[in-house]
Amino acid sequence: MARVNPHRFHQQAYRLVRVSSLFFAFAAAFAVWLALRKTGVANAADRNALQIYFVDVEGGQATLFVTPAGQSLLIDTGWPGNEGRDAERIVKAAKTAGLSKLDFVLVTHFHTDHVGGAPQLAERIPIGTFLDHGENRETTDGPTVQGWEAYQKLLASGKYKRMVLKPGDSLPLQGVQATAVSSDGALIGEPLSHAGQPNANCSSAEHYPADQTENARSLGIEINFGKLRILDLGDLPRDKEIELMCPTNKIGKVDIYIVSHHGWYQSGTPAFVNAIAPRVAIMDNGAKKGGSPSSWNVLEKAPGLEDLWQLHYSEEGGPAHNVSAPFIANPDGPDAANYLKLTAWPDGRFDVFNSRTQNTKQYKAR
Ligand SMILES: [Zn+2]
Repeated sequence: MARVNPHRFHQQAYRLVRVSSLFFAFAAAFAVWLALRKTGVANAADRNALQIYFVDVEGGQATLFVTPAGQSLLIDTGWPGNEGRDAERIVKAAKTAGLSKLDFVLVTHFHTDHVGGAPQLAERIPIGTFLDHGENRETTDGPTVQGWEAYQKLLASGKYKRMVLKPGDSLPLQGVQATAVSSDGALIGEPLSHAGQPNANCSSAEHYPADQTENARSLGIEINFGKLRILDLGDLPRDKEIELMCPTNKIGKVDIYIVSHHGWYQSGTPAFVNAIAPRVAIMDNGAKKGGSPSSWNVLEKAPGLEDLWQLHYSEEGGPAHNVSAPFIANPDGPDAANYLKLTAWPDGRFDVFNSRTQNTKQYKAR
């Protein structure tokens, strides 16, 4: 009968403990690495990347760009009121990105969900230069006039620089080529350098009456970063989309489309969306604002679209016109102000991080 050697048994047990503690150490290190990756900390340290935070301002816009050189550009400031709710959320994103000031704040137009948060934001973080389309032309709408007057007061303080951009103007950023393509109702006359193809979608395009509001004045920009193209047209409406895209596609294809007008039905015509053919679209809708079924359908069917992401579940969209839960930052229910973050590299790779799920989806270079 074989007898167990107690000394040998202890040796084996000891070796087992050593091997397993080594295994646990590796597993713990892997878990930490994974957690850092998921929270985007690893990306924040990546000095080659362009980072874009889609801040949840409940159906307004607030999109924060941080360039590889560390310059920051905030597009729009969310709503006023709510004790500075939207300004607080923007400052939180800025801190997450390691910023202590905002170099540029671009106001697409003077509707209150875009410029409204500017005074509260200016109280909370230093701002360098405001960029906008010029004068407010919508003088009949009370909240718009109030938002404009508050913005004028801010500019009159003398603390900030201001630049008015016209179509074709470049934004003063390094390492990122950003061009105004629409401003104060005017559009670029000539196609962008890589664009200018005939747009086959125009033959079936509907005719839309001219939008007389500030939406049509939106200061829209196209951003070229390495191999990537990113488009943000603010709330540019359908009639302007057709003017910009028919019969010639003046924008060309884009990789990342920041969905116009929060995905509301007054923007997002097929002639426009099909021609820019984005790989990924990100919609800054609220629960009760934007994400209209008609615009959502156009996006979902757009040629080459890999994913649509939404800041919120859209109540108007209902079960049939919302993306699946992993692609929504704030599902139905109590609002947690979750954000989406896109990190892009010059070689054409990018990824999208959902702060609610803590998951990142990667997109390969085209
Ligand atoms: Zn808006």
